[in-house]
Amino acid sequence: MSVTSEILEKIKKQDPHEFEFHQAAEEVLESLEPTAKKHPEFVKAKIYERIIEPDRVVMFRVPWLDDKGELQVNRGYRIQYNNAIGPYKGGTRFHPSVNLGILKFLGFEQIFKNSLTTLAMGGAKGGSDFDPKGKSDAEVMRFCHAYMLELFRHIGPDIDVPAGDIGVGGREIGYMYGMYKKIRNDHTGVLTGKGLSFGGSLVRPEATGYGCVYFAAEMLATKGLDFKGKTVAISGSGNVAQFAVEKVNQLGGKVITLCDSSSTIVDDEGISGDKCGYVMDLKNVQRGRISEYADKFGCAVCYIGESVWDVIKNQGLKIDIALPCATQNEIDGSHAEALVKNGCICVAEGSNMPSTPEAVRVFKDNGLLFGPGKAANAGGVATSGLEMSQNSMRLSWTREEVDARLLGIMKNIHKSCLDAAEVYGRKGDYVFGANVAGFLKVANAMLAYGYV
Ligand code: NDP
Repeated sequence: MSVTSEILEKIKKQDPHEFEFHQAAEEVLESLEPTAKKHPEFVKAKIYERIIEPDRVVMFRVPWLDDKGELQVNRGYRIQYNNAIGPYKGGTRFHPSVNLGILKFLGFEQIFKNSLTTLAMGGAKGGSDFDPKGKSDAEVMRFCHAYMLELFRHIGPDIDVPAGDIGVGGREIGYMYGMYKKIRNDHTGVLTGKGLSFGGSLVRPEATGYGCVYFAAEMLATKGLDFKGKTVAISGSGNVAQFAVEKVNQLGGKVITLCDSSSTIVDDEGISGDKCGYVMDLKNVQRGRISEYADKFGCAVCYIGESVWDVIKNQGLKIDIALPCATQNEIDGSHAEALVKNGCICVAEGSNMPSTPEAVRVFKDNGLLFGPGKAANAGGVATSGLEMSQNSMRLSWTREEVDARLLGIMKNIHKSCLDAAEVYGRKGDYVFGANVAGFLKVANAMLAYGYV
Protein backbone atom coordinates (compact mmCIF):
# COMPACT_ATOMS: atom_id res chain seq x y z
CA MET A 1 0.00 0.00 0.00
CA SER A 2 1.31 3.49 -0.85
CA VAL A 3 2.08 6.09 1.83
CA THR A 4 -0.79 8.29 0.75
CA SER A 5 -3.43 5.56 0.63
CA GLU A 6 -2.37 4.37 4.10
CA ILE A 7 -2.94 7.88 5.43
CA LEU A 8 -6.32 8.09 3.78
CA GLU A 9 -7.39 4.81 5.32
CA LYS A 10 -6.23 6.01 8.72
CA ILE A 11 -8.13 9.31 8.65
CA LYS A 12 -11.31 7.56 7.50
CA LYS A 13 -11.05 5.18 10.43
CA GLN A 14 -10.17 7.93 12.90
CA ASP A 15 -13.02 10.29 12.04
CA PRO A 16 -15.54 8.27 10.01
CA HIS A 17 -18.19 11.00 9.79
CA GLU A 18 -15.96 13.76 8.32
CA PHE A 19 -17.03 13.06 4.72
CA GLU A 20 -16.11 16.38 3.15
CA PHE A 21 -12.67 16.21 4.76
CA HIS A 22 -12.11 12.68 3.41
CA GLN A 23 -13.19 13.85 -0.04
CA ALA A 24 -10.76 16.78 -0.08
CA ALA A 25 -7.95 14.69 1.41
CA GLU A 26 -8.45 11.87 -1.09
CA GLU A 27 -8.12 14.19 -4.06
CA VAL A 28 -4.98 15.85 -2.70
CA LEU A 29 -3.30 12.65 -1.48
CA GLU A 30 -3.91 10.88 -4.78
CA SER A 31 -2.19 13.77 -6.57
CA LEU A 32 0.75 13.68 -4.15
CA GLU A 33 1.68 10.05 -4.84
CA PRO A 34 4.26 11.01 -7.54
CA THR A 35 5.87 13.51 -5.15
CA ALA A 36 6.40 10.72 -2.60
CA LYS A 37 8.20 8.69 -5.28
CA LYS A 38 10.36 11.62 -6.34
CA HIS A 39 11.12 12.87 -2.80
CA PRO A 40 12.03 10.05 -0.39
CA GLU A 41 13.10 12.80 2.04
CA PHE A 42 9.42 13.82 2.38
CA VAL A 43 8.44 10.24 3.14
CA LYS A 44 11.23 9.85 5.70
CA ALA A 45 10.28 13.09 7.45
CA LYS A 46 6.62 11.96 7.44
CA ILE A 47 5.55 15.19 5.75
CA TYR A 48 2.36 13.52 4.45
CA GLU A 49 1.34 12.26 7.91
CA ARG A 50 2.06 15.67 9.42
CA ILE A 51 0.37 17.87 6.80
CA ILE A 52 -2.93 15.98 7.13
CA GLU A 53 -3.15 16.73 10.87
CA PRO A 54 -4.13 20.30 11.89
CA ASP A 55 -1.64 22.15 14.09
CA ARG A 56 -4.59 22.72 16.43
CA VAL A 57 -8.38 22.87 16.54
CA VAL A 58 -10.08 25.39 18.81
CA MET A 59 -13.74 24.78 19.66
CA PHE A 60 -15.75 27.09 21.87
CA ARG A 61 -19.26 28.03 22.89
CA VAL A 62 -20.77 31.30 21.71
CA PRO A 63 -23.57 32.51 24.01
CA TRP A 64 -25.58 35.50 22.73
CA LEU A 65 -28.92 37.20 23.42
CA ASP A 66 -31.62 37.24 20.73
CA ASP A 67 -34.08 40.10 20.28
CA LYS A 68 -36.52 38.51 22.72
CA GLY A 69 -33.86 38.60 25.41
CA GLU A 70 -33.46 34.83 25.30
CA LEU A 71 -30.00 33.29 25.51
CA GLN A 72 -28.87 31.30 22.48
CA VAL A 73 -25.80 29.09 22.35
CA ASN A 74 -23.85 28.25 19.19
CA ARG A 75 -20.58 26.47 18.62
CA GLY A 76 -17.54 28.33 17.29
CA TYR A 77 -14.41 26.88 15.70
CA ARG A 78 -10.99 27.90 14.48
CA ILE A 79 -8.79 25.33 12.79
CA GLN A 80 -5.17 26.43 12.57
CA TYR A 81 -4.05 23.88 10.04
CA ASN A 82 -0.53 24.71 8.97
CA ASN A 83 1.69 27.79 9.35
CA ALA A 84 4.84 26.49 7.66
CA ILE A 85 4.99 29.32 5.11
CA GLY A 86 3.26 32.19 6.94
CA PRO A 87 0.69 33.14 9.58
CA TYR A 88 -2.53 31.08 9.55
CA LYS A 89 -4.98 32.58 7.08
CA GLY A 90 -8.47 31.53 6.01
CA GLY A 91 -12.11 32.46 6.03
CA THR A 92 -14.93 32.27 8.56
CA ARG A 93 -18.21 30.53 7.67
CA PHE A 94 -21.49 31.12 9.47
CA HIS A 95 -24.00 28.52 8.27
CA PRO A 96 -26.15 25.93 10.06
CA SER A 97 -24.35 23.10 8.22
CA VAL A 98 -20.95 24.03 9.72
CA ASN A 99 -19.22 21.17 11.55
CA LEU A 100 -15.67 20.02 12.16
CA GLY A 101 -15.48 17.88 9.00
CA ILE A 102 -16.51 20.76 6.72
CA LEU A 103 -14.08 23.17 8.36
CA LYS A 104 -11.26 20.61 8.19
CA PHE A 105 -11.87 20.19 4.46
CA LEU A 106 -11.83 23.95 3.98
CA GLY A 107 -8.75 24.45 6.19
CA PHE A 108 -6.83 21.65 4.49
CA GLU A 109 -7.61 23.06 1.01
CA GLN A 110 -6.54 26.48 2.24
CA ILE A 111 -2.96 25.30 2.88
CA PHE A 112 -2.42 24.54 -0.80
CA LYS A 113 -4.45 27.48 -2.09
CA ASN A 114 -2.50 29.97 -0.01
CA SER A 115 0.79 28.43 -1.09
CA LEU A 116 -0.26 28.79 -4.75
CA THR A 117 -0.75 32.55 -4.36
CA THR A 118 3.03 32.85 -3.75
CA LEU A 119 2.26 35.01 -0.68
CA ALA A 120 3.41 34.09 2.83
CA MET A 121 0.22 32.64 4.28
CA GLY A 122 -0.47 29.39 6.12
CA GLY A 123 -3.81 27.57 6.05
CA ALA A 124 -6.75 27.93 8.45
CA LYS A 125 -10.53 28.06 8.57
CA GLY A 126 -13.17 28.85 11.15
CA GLY A 127 -16.80 29.56 11.68
CA SER A 128 -19.95 28.62 13.48
CA ASP A 129 -23.26 26.82 13.02
CA PHE A 130 -24.94 30.22 13.56
CA ASP A 131 -27.35 31.12 10.73
CA PRO A 132 -27.36 34.87 9.97
CA LYS A 133 -30.36 34.42 7.64
CA GLY A 134 -33.55 35.78 9.19
CA LYS A 135 -31.68 37.39 12.10
CA SER A 136 -31.97 41.11 12.82
CA ASP A 137 -28.95 43.33 12.44
CA ALA A 138 -28.73 43.65 16.23
CA GLU A 139 -28.73 39.86 16.63
CA VAL A 140 -25.96 39.46 14.05
CA MET A 141 -23.95 42.14 15.88
CA ARG A 142 -24.39 40.46 19.28
CA PHE A 143 -23.42 37.10 17.83
CA CYS A 144 -20.30 38.48 16.08
CA HIS A 145 -19.22 40.26 19.27
CA ALA A 146 -19.72 37.10 21.33
CA TYR A 147 -17.80 35.02 18.75
CA MET A 148 -14.84 37.42 18.92
CA LEU A 149 -14.92 37.48 22.73
CA GLU A 150 -13.40 34.00 22.61
CA LEU A 151 -11.61 34.03 19.24
CA PHE A 152 -9.48 37.13 20.01
CA ARG A 153 -7.10 35.17 22.23
CA HIS A 154 -6.15 32.80 19.39
CA ILE A 155 -5.52 35.29 16.55
CA GLY A 156 -3.22 38.18 15.69
CA PRO A 157 -1.73 39.90 12.61
CA ASP A 158 1.34 37.61 12.72
CA ILE A 159 -0.48 34.59 14.19
CA ASP A 160 -3.79 33.99 12.44
CA VAL A 161 -5.78 36.35 10.22
CA PRO A 162 -9.42 35.30 9.61
CA ALA A 163 -11.57 36.64 6.75
CA GLY A 164 -15.13 36.09 5.42
CA ASP A 165 -16.78 33.14 3.70
CA ILE A 166 -20.40 31.95 3.41
CA GLY A 167 -22.57 34.07 5.71
CA VAL A 168 -19.70 36.38 6.65
CA GLY A 169 -19.38 39.57 4.60
CA GLY A 170 -18.42 43.18 5.28
CA ARG A 171 -21.09 43.62 7.97
CA GLU A 172 -19.91 40.64 10.04
CA ILE A 173 -16.21 41.48 9.62
CA GLY A 174 -16.95 45.04 10.84
CA TYR A 175 -18.66 43.77 14.00
CA MET A 176 -15.93 41.21 14.72
CA TYR A 177 -13.15 43.73 14.15
CA GLY A 178 -14.91 46.27 16.38
CA MET A 179 -14.89 43.81 19.29
CA TYR A 180 -11.29 42.72 18.67
CA LYS A 181 -10.14 46.34 18.68
CA LYS A 182 -12.03 47.07 21.89
CA ILE A 183 -10.58 44.09 23.78
CA ARG A 184 -7.01 44.44 22.53
CA ASN A 185 -6.89 48.24 22.21
CA ASP A 186 -5.02 47.56 18.99
CA HIS A 187 -5.80 48.77 15.46
CA THR A 188 -4.08 46.15 13.36
CA GLY A 189 -4.46 43.89 10.33
CA VAL A 190 -5.96 40.97 12.27
CA LEU A 191 -8.93 40.42 9.95
CA THR A 192 -9.23 40.95 6.20
CA GLY A 193 -12.27 42.02 4.22
CA LYS A 194 -12.47 45.11 6.43
CA GLY A 195 -14.33 48.26 5.36
CA LEU A 196 -12.30 50.77 3.33
CA SER A 197 -12.36 53.40 6.07
CA PHE A 198 -10.74 51.09 8.64
CA GLY A 199 -8.01 49.24 6.80
CA GLY A 200 -9.77 47.33 4.03
CA SER A 201 -8.30 46.97 0.56
CA LEU A 202 -9.87 48.15 -2.66
CA VAL A 203 -10.91 45.16 -4.83
CA ARG A 204 -11.06 42.72 -1.86
CA PRO A 205 -14.87 42.35 -2.17
CA GLU A 206 -14.51 41.75 -5.92
CA ALA A 207 -11.39 39.58 -5.73
CA THR A 208 -12.71 36.00 -5.54
CA GLY A 209 -15.26 36.47 -8.33
CA TYR A 210 -12.91 38.50 -10.53
CA GLY A 211 -10.05 36.08 -9.87
CA CYS A 212 -12.18 33.09 -10.85
CA VAL A 213 -13.04 34.73 -14.17
CA TYR A 214 -9.39 35.68 -14.74
CA PHE A 215 -8.43 32.04 -14.15
CA ALA A 216 -11.12 30.81 -16.57
CA ALA A 217 -9.90 33.35 -19.14
CA GLU A 218 -6.37 31.97 -18.81
CA MET A 219 -7.62 28.42 -19.34
CA LEU A 220 -9.66 29.50 -22.39
CA ALA A 221 -6.65 31.33 -23.82
CA THR A 222 -4.70 28.03 -23.96
CA LYS A 223 -7.25 27.00 -26.63
CA GLY A 224 -7.28 30.40 -28.35
CA LEU A 225 -10.70 31.21 -26.83
CA ASP A 226 -12.14 33.98 -24.64
CA PHE A 227 -15.37 35.08 -22.92
CA LYS A 228 -16.69 37.17 -25.82
CA GLY A 229 -20.15 35.98 -26.86
CA LYS A 230 -20.06 32.99 -24.49
CA THR A 231 -23.09 31.94 -22.46
CA VAL A 232 -22.15 31.51 -18.81
CA ALA A 233 -23.91 29.73 -15.94
CA ILE A 234 -23.12 31.02 -12.45
CA SER A 235 -24.54 29.55 -9.23
CA GLY A 236 -25.00 31.35 -5.93
CA SER A 237 -25.84 35.04 -5.63
CA GLY A 238 -23.51 36.03 -2.81
CA ASN A 239 -20.14 37.72 -2.78
CA VAL A 240 -18.30 35.43 -5.20
CA ALA A 241 -21.19 35.05 -7.66
CA GLN A 242 -21.96 38.78 -7.82
CA PHE A 243 -18.48 39.81 -8.85
CA ALA A 244 -18.04 36.86 -11.20
CA VAL A 245 -21.13 38.17 -13.02
CA GLU A 246 -19.65 41.68 -13.14
CA LYS A 247 -16.33 40.50 -14.59
CA VAL A 248 -17.93 38.16 -17.16
CA ASN A 249 -20.03 41.11 -18.36
CA GLN A 250 -16.90 43.26 -18.64
CA LEU A 251 -15.21 40.58 -20.75
CA GLY A 252 -18.17 40.32 -23.15
CA GLY A 253 -19.83 37.12 -21.90
CA LYS A 254 -23.51 36.67 -21.07
CA VAL A 255 -24.49 35.29 -17.63
CA ILE A 256 -27.93 33.69 -17.68
CA THR A 257 -28.29 32.03 -14.25
CA LEU A 258 -28.02 32.74 -10.52
CA CYS A 259 -29.43 30.94 -7.49
CA ASP A 260 -29.71 30.85 -3.73
CA SER A 261 -30.59 27.93 -1.49
CA SER A 262 -34.31 28.32 -2.37
CA SER A 263 -34.44 28.77 -6.15
CA THR A 264 -32.72 29.46 -9.47
CA ILE A 265 -33.43 32.25 -11.92
CA VAL A 266 -32.71 32.05 -15.65
CA ASP A 267 -32.53 35.27 -17.66
CA ASP A 268 -31.87 34.52 -21.33
CA GLU A 269 -31.25 38.20 -22.02
CA GLY A 270 -28.30 38.22 -19.60
CA ILE A 271 -27.83 39.48 -16.04
CA SER A 272 -26.14 42.75 -16.91
CA GLY A 273 -26.29 46.51 -16.37
CA ASP A 274 -28.95 47.58 -13.86
CA LYS A 275 -29.94 43.95 -13.25
CA CYS A 276 -26.47 43.26 -11.84
CA GLY A 277 -26.79 46.24 -9.48
CA TYR A 278 -30.25 45.03 -8.49
CA VAL A 279 -28.85 41.63 -7.40
CA MET A 280 -26.19 43.31 -5.26
CA ASP A 281 -28.75 45.52 -3.54
CA LEU A 282 -31.20 42.62 -3.12
CA LYS A 283 -28.61 40.35 -1.52
CA ASN A 284 -26.31 42.75 0.35
CA VAL A 285 -28.74 45.44 1.53
CA GLN A 286 -32.32 44.09 1.38
CA ARG A 287 -31.14 40.55 2.21
CA GLY A 288 -33.94 39.18 0.03
CA ARG A 289 -34.37 36.00 -2.03
CA ILE A 290 -33.20 35.57 -5.63
CA SER A 291 -36.78 34.66 -6.69
CA GLU A 292 -37.56 38.39 -6.36
CA TYR A 293 -35.41 38.95 -9.46
CA ALA A 294 -38.03 37.14 -11.56
CA ASP A 295 -40.82 39.23 -9.99
CA LYS A 296 -38.91 42.40 -10.86
CA PHE A 297 -37.75 41.50 -14.37
CA GLY A 298 -40.31 39.82 -16.63
CA CYS A 299 -37.54 38.41 -18.85
CA ALA A 300 -36.48 35.90 -16.13
CA VAL A 301 -37.93 32.54 -15.17
CA CYS A 302 -37.70 31.23 -11.60
CA TYR A 303 -37.34 27.54 -10.69
CA ILE A 304 -38.25 26.96 -7.05
CA GLY A 305 -36.34 24.23 -5.21
CA GLU A 306 -33.90 23.59 -8.08
CA SER A 307 -30.20 24.42 -8.26
CA VAL A 308 -28.64 25.99 -11.34
CA TRP A 309 -27.26 22.57 -12.27
CA ASP A 310 -30.69 20.89 -11.85
CA VAL A 311 -32.19 23.49 -14.19
CA ILE A 312 -29.45 23.03 -16.80
CA LYS A 313 -30.05 19.28 -16.65
CA ASN A 314 -33.86 19.41 -16.63
CA GLN A 315 -34.34 22.21 -19.16
CA GLY A 316 -31.42 21.33 -21.45
CA LEU A 317 -29.95 24.86 -21.22
CA LYS A 318 -27.05 25.48 -23.61
CA ILE A 319 -23.99 26.67 -21.70
CA ASP A 320 -20.43 27.41 -22.81
CA ILE A 321 -18.84 28.09 -19.42
CA ALA A 322 -19.85 27.10 -15.87
CA LEU A 323 -18.73 29.00 -12.77
CA PRO A 324 -20.10 27.32 -9.62
CA CYS A 325 -20.01 29.97 -6.86
CA ALA A 326 -22.40 28.67 -4.16
CA THR A 327 -21.19 25.76 -2.01
CA GLN A 328 -19.50 22.34 -1.81
CA ASN A 329 -20.77 19.33 -3.79
CA GLU A 330 -23.34 21.32 -5.75
CA ILE A 331 -22.47 19.58 -9.06
CA ASP A 332 -22.86 15.80 -9.10
CA GLY A 333 -22.03 13.32 -11.87
CA SER A 334 -25.42 13.69 -13.59
CA HIS A 335 -25.15 17.49 -13.58
CA ALA A 336 -21.66 17.20 -15.07
CA GLU A 337 -22.93 14.90 -17.82
CA ALA A 338 -25.70 17.39 -18.61
CA LEU A 339 -23.17 20.22 -18.81
CA VAL A 340 -21.04 18.22 -21.25
CA LYS A 341 -24.09 17.29 -23.33
CA ASN A 342 -25.25 20.92 -23.43
CA GLY A 343 -21.96 22.19 -24.83
CA CYS A 344 -19.96 23.31 -21.81
CA ILE A 345 -16.23 23.63 -22.55
CA CYS A 346 -14.89 25.17 -19.35
CA VAL A 347 -15.60 24.94 -15.61
CA ALA A 348 -13.84 27.19 -13.08
CA GLU A 349 -14.74 26.68 -9.42
CA GLY A 350 -15.51 29.92 -7.56
CA SER A 351 -16.81 27.95 -4.59
CA ASN A 352 -14.76 25.41 -2.65
CA MET A 353 -15.09 21.80 -3.88
CA PRO A 354 -18.41 22.38 -5.71
CA SER A 355 -17.85 19.35 -7.97
CA THR A 356 -18.15 15.83 -6.55
CA PRO A 357 -15.38 13.37 -7.50
CA GLU A 358 -17.76 11.81 -10.10
CA ALA A 359 -18.37 15.24 -11.65
CA VAL A 360 -14.62 15.94 -11.84
CA ARG A 361 -14.14 12.57 -13.54
CA VAL A 362 -16.81 13.43 -16.14
CA PHE A 363 -15.20 16.80 -16.86
CA LYS A 364 -11.74 15.27 -17.23
CA ASP A 365 -12.91 12.31 -19.33
CA ASN A 366 -14.60 14.69 -21.73
CA GLY A 367 -11.60 16.99 -22.04
CA LEU A 368 -13.19 20.08 -20.48
CA LEU A 369 -10.97 22.85 -19.17
CA PHE A 370 -11.42 22.31 -15.43
CA GLY A 371 -10.02 24.74 -12.85
CA PRO A 372 -10.32 23.45 -9.25
CA GLY A 373 -11.34 25.83 -6.47
CA LYS A 374 -7.99 25.92 -4.73
CA ALA A 375 -6.55 27.52 -7.86
CA ALA A 376 -9.54 29.27 -9.46
CA ASN A 377 -10.89 30.94 -6.31
CA ALA A 378 -7.50 31.82 -4.77
CA GLY A 379 -7.91 35.48 -5.82
CA GLY A 380 -9.87 36.20 -2.64
CA VAL A 381 -7.22 35.11 -0.21
CA ALA A 382 -4.49 36.55 -2.44
CA THR A 383 -6.11 39.97 -2.16
CA SER A 384 -6.51 39.41 1.58
CA GLY A 385 -2.73 38.93 1.55
CA LEU A 386 -2.45 42.27 -0.25
CA GLU A 387 -4.70 43.83 2.41
CA MET A 388 -2.31 42.50 5.09
CA SER A 389 0.66 44.05 3.25
CA GLN A 390 -1.09 47.42 3.01
CA ASN A 391 -2.01 47.28 6.73
CA SER A 392 1.61 46.55 7.66
CA MET A 393 2.88 49.40 5.52
CA ARG A 394 0.02 51.71 6.59
CA LEU A 395 -0.54 52.52 2.92
CA SER A 396 -3.44 51.99 0.52
CA TRP A 397 -2.93 50.98 -3.05
CA THR A 398 -5.21 52.21 -5.83
CA ARG A 399 -7.95 50.05 -7.36
CA GLU A 400 -5.88 49.71 -10.54
CA GLU A 401 -2.80 48.61 -8.62
CA VAL A 402 -4.62 45.94 -6.59
CA ASP A 403 -6.52 44.67 -9.62
CA ALA A 404 -3.30 44.45 -11.65
CA ARG A 405 -1.65 42.47 -8.83
CA LEU A 406 -4.68 40.17 -8.63
CA LEU A 407 -4.57 39.54 -12.37
CA GLY A 408 -0.82 38.87 -12.17
CA ILE A 409 -1.31 36.41 -9.30
CA MET A 410 -4.09 34.52 -11.13
CA LYS A 411 -1.93 34.23 -14.26
CA ASN A 412 0.93 33.01 -12.11
CA ILE A 413 -1.23 30.40 -10.36
CA HIS A 414 -2.47 29.18 -13.75
CA LYS A 415 1.10 28.82 -14.99
CA SER A 416 2.27 27.08 -11.78
CA CYS A 417 -0.52 24.50 -12.14
CA LEU A 418 0.38 23.77 -15.75
CA ASP A 419 4.13 23.67 -15.05
CA ALA A 420 3.80 21.29 -12.06
CA ALA A 421 1.39 19.05 -13.99
CA GLU A 422 3.90 18.76 -16.82
CA VAL A 423 6.97 18.16 -14.62
CA TYR A 424 5.19 15.45 -12.60
CA GLY A 425 3.76 13.72 -15.66
CA ARG A 426 0.10 14.74 -16.03
CA LYS A 427 0.20 17.52 -18.61
CA GLY A 428 -2.85 19.80 -18.69
CA ASP A 429 -4.36 18.41 -15.45
CA TYR A 430 -5.09 21.51 -13.35
CA VAL A 431 -6.31 19.50 -10.34
CA PHE A 432 -3.10 17.54 -10.14
CA GLY A 433 -0.93 20.58 -10.91
CA ALA A 434 -2.60 22.75 -8.23
CA ASN A 435 -2.16 20.09 -5.56
CA VAL A 436 1.48 19.39 -6.40
CA ALA A 437 2.55 23.03 -6.84
CA GLY A 438 0.79 24.06 -3.62
CA PHE A 439 2.27 21.15 -1.68
CA LEU A 440 5.93 21.43 -2.67
CA LYS A 441 6.53 24.85 -1.13
CA VAL A 442 4.89 23.86 2.17
CA ALA A 443 6.65 20.48 2.25
CA ASN A 444 10.07 22.05 1.72
CA ALA A 445 9.44 24.52 4.55
CA MET A 446 8.31 21.71 6.88
CA LEU A 447 11.41 19.74 5.99
CA ALA A 448 13.64 22.70 6.87
CA TYR A 449 12.12 22.98 10.37
CA GLY A 450 12.95 19.44 11.44
CA TYR A 451 10.46 17.32 13.31
CA VAL A 452 8.01 19.89 14.71
P1 NDP B 1 -22.11 34.14 0.44
O1 NDP B 1 -22.66 33.79 1.75
O2 NDP B 1 -21.88 35.57 0.09
O3 NDP B 1 -23.03 33.52 -0.72
C1 NDP B 1 -23.28 32.15 -0.79
C2 NDP B 1 -24.32 31.95 -1.85
O4 NDP B 1 -24.45 30.55 -2.11
C3 NDP B 1 -25.69 32.45 -1.44
O5 NDP B 1 -26.39 32.88 -2.58
C4 NDP B 1 -26.31 31.18 -0.84
O6 NDP B 1 -27.73 31.17 -0.83
C5 NDP B 1 -25.79 30.15 -1.80
N1 NDP B 1 -25.79 28.84 -1.17
C6 NDP B 1 -25.20 28.48 -0.01
N2 NDP B 1 -25.47 27.21 0.26
C7 NDP B 1 -26.23 26.77 -0.75
C8 NDP B 1 -26.83 25.53 -1.04
N3 NDP B 1 -26.70 24.47 -0.22
N4 NDP B 1 -27.55 25.43 -2.20
C9 NDP B 1 -27.69 26.48 -3.03
N5 NDP B 1 -27.16 27.70 -2.78
C10 NDP B 1 -26.44 27.82 -1.67
O7 NDP B 1 -20.75 33.31 0.30
P2 NDP B 1 -19.53 33.54 -0.70
O8 NDP B 1 -20.02 34.04 -2.00
O9 NDP B 1 -18.49 34.28 0.02
O10 NDP B 1 -18.99 32.05 -0.86
C11 NDP B 1 -19.44 31.16 -1.87
C12 NDP B 1 -18.44 30.05 -2.07
O11 NDP B 1 -17.17 30.60 -2.45
C13 NDP B 1 -18.15 29.19 -0.83
O12 NDP B 1 -17.89 27.87 -1.25
C14 NDP B 1 -16.88 29.80 -0.27
O13 NDP B 1 -16.16 28.88 0.51
C15 NDP B 1 -16.16 30.12 -1.57
N6 NDP B 1 -15.11 31.12 -1.43
C16 NDP B 1 -15.39 32.37 -0.97
C17 NDP B 1 -14.38 33.31 -0.87
C18 NDP B 1 -14.66 34.72 -0.48
O14 NDP B 1 -13.75 35.54 -0.62
N7 NDP B 1 -15.85 35.07 -0.03
C19 NDP B 1 -12.98 32.96 -1.18
C20 NDP B 1 -12.81 31.64 -1.77
C21 NDP B 1 -13.85 30.76 -1.84
P3 NDP B 1 -28.55 31.51 0.52
O15 NDP B 1 -28.40 32.98 0.69
O16 NDP B 1 -29.93 31.05 0.28
O17 NDP B 1 -27.87 30.73 1.63
